[in-house]
Amino acid sequence: SREVQLAARPVGTPKPSDFSMADVTLPPLEEGQVRVQNLYLTVDPYMRGRMNDVKSYTPPFALGETMTGGAVGRVLESRADGVQVGDVILHDRGWRTHANVNARQARVLTERPGVPLSAYLGVLGMPGLTAYAGLLRVAEFKAGDTVFVSGAAGAVGSAVGQIARLKGASRVIGSAGSADKVRHLTENLGFDAAFNYKDGPVAAQLKAAAPDGIDVYFDNVGGEHLEAAISSLKVGGHAAVCGMISQYNSTEANPAPRNLALMIGKQLTLRGFLVSPHYDLFDTFAEEVGGWIASGELKFDETVVDGIDATPEAFIGLLAGQNTGKMIVRL
Ligand code: NDP
Repeated sequence: SREVQLAARPVGTPKPSDFSMADVTLPPLEEGQVRVQNLYLTVDPYMRGRMNDVKSYTPPFALGETMTGGAVGRVLESRADGVQVGDVILHDRGWRTHANVNARQARVLTERPGVPLSAYLGVLGMPGLTAYAGLLRVAEFKAGDTVFVSGAAGAVGSAVGQIARLKGASRVIGSAGSADKVRHLTENLGFDAAFNYKDGPVAAQLKAAAPDGIDVYFDNVGGEHLEAAISSLKVGGHAAVCGMISQYNSTEANPAPRNLALMIGKQLTLRGFLVSPHYDLFDTFAEEVGGWIASGELKFDETVVDGIDATPEAFIGLLAGQNTGKMIVRL
């Protein structure tokens, strides 16, 4: 197996030299394990936190060891009941070409026409469920709401905006980091308005896009975006605080939203969440979002990078906004 290891803990923005490649011989399979050849790997923003030597909600990656993450692989050999050679499984031994996987920690996927297997790492997987649970359960979205989502052209954000539209939002507004992404949101994904946060202050651009204020904010970015949303939220508004990607590479303490006191008078609910406790929604989510994908009502994009050696670049590129939709590594 060719694998990507963490060579050094990144300081600030990760660099290619923080990663190294290793060729590893896998041990024989144990009872209950399957050997897979990975087809697709995911790189996700949360992995940046695991590269630091601090305890977070996930333990840090170890230096000189292969990293982990979501992957879709085809079974080459099986010593597990119920998993056959040729099956495709979703598992957590990513960042490598081959792996021995405990079958109990994997899910056998059904190949469906029109749905690429990589979608189980994105719109039909963890990021898709994050969008669904975060919007509908955590932010308590209801039909008629005006919704603002940051990171709107990414895997989670693009699903949030479209689910809000399909569930009857009165207005959906997104922010993203390039003119092309902004155009894509309004022209192809059905957002009512979108802006490039690099064009000027977020607060002013959000006010222009939502002159009557917003009912729900789905935060993927934090910082200036969260502050602007607090200003635009209406009385009784809700925010699902999902991610703060503008701060993941920070080497200094981050400024708090300076207007946080507004949440008192406006009686706002700002609720942080992790996707992990929301897997009870998975079947409902998969059926509803799977249906919208099949009918063409919900679109998803992928930015695909080829080859195991390009995985560090894919991860670095993700943090720099080189992706539209899900960043995927294809092997
Ligand atoms: P994305 O597909 O959205 O990719 C990350 C995007 O972040 C980039 O494309 C870039 O887009 C944007 N970005 C990078 N730096 C900045 C910045 N300084 N300011 C604003 N935007 C920036 O990733 P995901 O959809 O996988 O994740 C989105 C968010 O959701 C992340 O914050 C992630 O941590 C969080 N998350 C949380 C989960 C949970 O359980 N709470 C689960 C999954 C994801 P652009 O070009 O627009 O800048």
